[in-house]
Amino acid sequence: MYKIPVSELLEEVGSIKEIAEAITLEEESEDFVLTKPLKTKLSLISLKDSLLLKGSVLATVQVSCARCGKDFEQDLPINIEEVYKKESEILHFDDRDRELGAEDLCFVIEDDNTIDIEEVLRQNIIMALPIKPICSINCTPVQASFGELKKGNALSGLKDLLENKKGSENGCTKEKNK
Ligand SMILES: [Zn+2]
Repeated sequence: MYKIPVSELLEEVGSIKEIAEAITLEEESEDFVLTKPLKTKLSLISLKDSLLLKGSVLATVQVSCARCGKDFEQDLPINIEEVYKKESEILHFDDRDRELGAEDLCFVIEDDNTIDIEEVLRQNIIMALPIKPICSINCTPVQASFGELKKGNALSGLKDLLENKKGSENGCTKEKNK
């Protein structure tokens, strides 16, 4: 939980609260390992009956290289834009006889007028995780190159063999001609 009190914000539509802090997640996620506190640069904007959390977060995660398997740190710049609503408002939406769209997905403003931004941060980090992280542009794919090397050697060996054969034949012909 990373709770932020929002009573004052809710009272005045248009008011803004800046969140520029280094945040450490209380609950570790199974999906990622943070190596540094999150750098947040967020604005919490009071709209009518809802709050908009908007801004950027820099997460530094430890990932394994998809090529060589080495663990390394990667910075993930993440843009965040999420809406918080009172639970009563969300239920009101759910009651309507229509399909729920993306605009209806939102987080809850708790009854004690606080919001928890930890879950928002966690979900956004998971979505930003690289599918195939590569440790560096110079990273050599160890296993793939080994396979290619073997394949390449076999082929060039065959080629050499054919060329040698040709060569020796030519040599023989030349020898004979001499
Ligand atoms: Zn690598």
